[in-house]
Amino acid sequence: MVDSAPNALVISDIRGNISLINNQAKEMFGYEAEEIVGSKLEILMPERYREQHSKKHANYFLSPKVREFESSLELFAVRKDGTEFPVEICLTPIKTDDGTVALASIVDITERKRSEIIIKKQVIELQQKNKEMEQFTYIASHDLQEPLRTVTNYLQLIEEDYPEQIKGELSQHLATVGSAINRMSILVRSLLDYGRLGRNKVLSLTNAEMVLNEVMSDLNGLIKCTNSNIIIDNTLPKLHAYETELRQMLQNLLNNAIKFRKKDTRPVIHIGFTRKDDYYEFYVKDNGIGIDSRYSERIFKMFQRLNKETDFEGHGVGLANCKKISEMHGGTIWVESEPGRGSIFKFTIPFL
Ligand code: ADP
Repeated sequence: MVDSAPNALVISDIRGNISLINNQAKEMFGYEAEEIVGSKLEILMPERYREQHSKKHANYFLSPKVREFESSLELFAVRKDGTEFPVEICLTPIKTDDGTVALASIVDITERKRSEIIIKKQVIELQQKNKEMEQFTYIASHDLQEPLRTVTNYLQLIEEDYPEQIKGELSQHLATVGSAINRMSILVRSLLDYGRLGRNKVLSLTNAEMVLNEVMSDLNGLIKCTNSNIIIDNTLPKLHAYETELRQMLQNLLNNAIKFRKKDTRPVIHIGFTRKDDYYEFYVKDNGIGIDSRYSERIFKMFQRLNKETDFEGHGVGLANCKKISEMHGGTIWVESEPGRGSIFKFTIPFL
């Protein structure tokens, strides 16, 4: 049984002498049984751990119990040829006629460690790239503001200095330039805000119900004038979240739910959440114009809009911000919708 076990097994007695070693362990360490049985257990460990181990081994037999060494402990073993490798060990006491012995089950975790290192490296690279992207967006939009301001100022000067000459077609052209600049500065500011989003984020225990109440009170004017019926299906939970950003996300979603209402239909909006295994799933459901499923990914991209600005005003940044915020929390956001049949926006926040 010991020989056919998948793990390397080494049995040692109370004095710390190896009394049995199975085939897997022989292969793992590069010893034959007769070379090693009777030797001190420390032969299988790097020099630096030996002295400490021999003391611990004696103590183990004072109150022997099953012990699993956490992988965070960074245990190493050493082969006959002197090479080291990382291991995970589980110790089990076994009572025999000759007294208690310790059965060590050893797993070589070199491969796992290697994958962990690769994943860690990739995560760092990804974070770095993300940071660079954010910095680029921030710097680009910041620097774009300056020339925009100059153009605006000069346009104003032209209008002030040449009131007589500006008429007819010229006046129309200047008005077009003015509104294009206006739009551009809104876009630049949106980009800047997007780049800034979450820069000073603070994780805290957040009462989502309270946040929602604040959002509703901020949108009170809009709710009243559109006669919207907002129904909170269940009391939102307290959770670890970035409160300011969560508020912004709820505000965007509720604002959109009201904004994209059908003409002549009273907006009825449900807000609630369900608790899943290891995350919360929130939803904002409306009875508005709905969205064609072909666009359900596109709407979360920056500056993407499906409607004319004359029908519904906006700049196409709200949902891009929501996506960034949900991902900042380690969650996701998506929409379930059909044209003319309302939309449900759902986002998740894992228990952090
Ligand atoms: P904005 O609201 O400024 O247009 P968003 O990024 O918030 O920008 O939304 C992007 C687009 O997604 C909107 O222009 C609209 O076409 C669509 N959309 C968002 N929310 C809804 C909704 N609740 N119902 C229907 N369409 C929506």
